[in-house]
Amino acid sequence: MKDWATCEPDVVKLLTRHFTSGRGGHDIDKIVVHYNAGDLSISGCWSVWQNAEASAHYQVESDGTIGQLVWDRDTAWHCGVFSQNQRSIGIEHANRSDGTISEKCLDNGAHLVAALCRLYGLGRPQWLKNVYPHKHFVSTSCPGQIYGSQKKRYIERAQYWYDQMGKKEPTLLQCSPTGYWGTKVTRVWQALNGIDETGIVYRQPESAKRYLKAMTSSKFGNHSFRFVKDSEVGEGSLAVRRLQNRKLGIPWKDCTGVFDAETRRLFIKKYCPNYKQTTTLCAPSTAVKNFAKEINAEAKAKGIKR
Ligand SMILES: [Zn+2]
Repeated sequence: MKDWATCEPDVVKLLTRHFTSGRGGHDIDKIVVHYNAGDLSISGCWSVWQNAEASAHYQVESDGTIGQLVWDRDTAWHCGVFSQNQRSIGIEHANRSDGTISEKCLDNGAHLVAALCRLYGLGRPQWLKNVYPHKHFVSTSCPGQIYGSQKKRYIERAQYWYDQMGKKEPTLLQCSPTGYWGTKVTRVWQALNGIDETGIVYRQPESAKRYLKAMTSSKFGNHSFRFVKDSEVGEGSLAVRRLQNRKLGIPWKDCTGVFDAETRRLFIKKYCPNYKQTTTLCAPSTAVKNFAKEINAEAKAKGIKR
């Protein structure tokens, strides 16, 4: 497939006969699975259906190549019951002489079932719920071993692909440069420094709170700084130690892990050099905004995704 999300096939070779335009106003509610009763190619199906009064939307070849012969929006003549044709998508599979299909054909056929179930909102693939064998509608040997020895594996692969397609694609880890230091700013910084991404800056002194306005307020009322009594600060926060060392040039042995007055002064000097007030991070803070932009660019350059 060129694109599973949109069900764009490898090959388009449309029939001009032996299907019906449109679906008579019906929605697609099922998929019907077929086998060729032969090992046909996409062109091979196309040729057969020039004479035979039959068609299907898709053909899956033995090497897994998928072709479209009738658009989904039209009614293919595949399951022998016209009212069911109007509500279904027919998928043909090339098969071997014993009625089984190749592993490639099975996996891509099942993947196509999953993709169509996603595209048309049919739900998780399940036999006789949204995926049917041809023989369910008329007396036929079709779809061979797809609904015999390969029945279980076929639907399991369809379910696997359906679940895979439902997982969110990882996207770049970025924070919003709003000038407020929220959990996302902390997470991006933690990720860049190989620190557990808790989104929380631990053990900051209560006495510094009033100077850290950008860290204690946000547009959404949450913040990522956790304050303790000054006597309980200990080694402070590893995220702040890294900031002091890597961004503000403080030697590692002198890093306190605390957003103290000297750290705030250096931070503002670096990220907002024109600012007159030198130790308070306002809400919003231009320095925090610029810091966020800088770490976003670093996270992007490193391709950090979540
Ligand atoms: Zn069939």
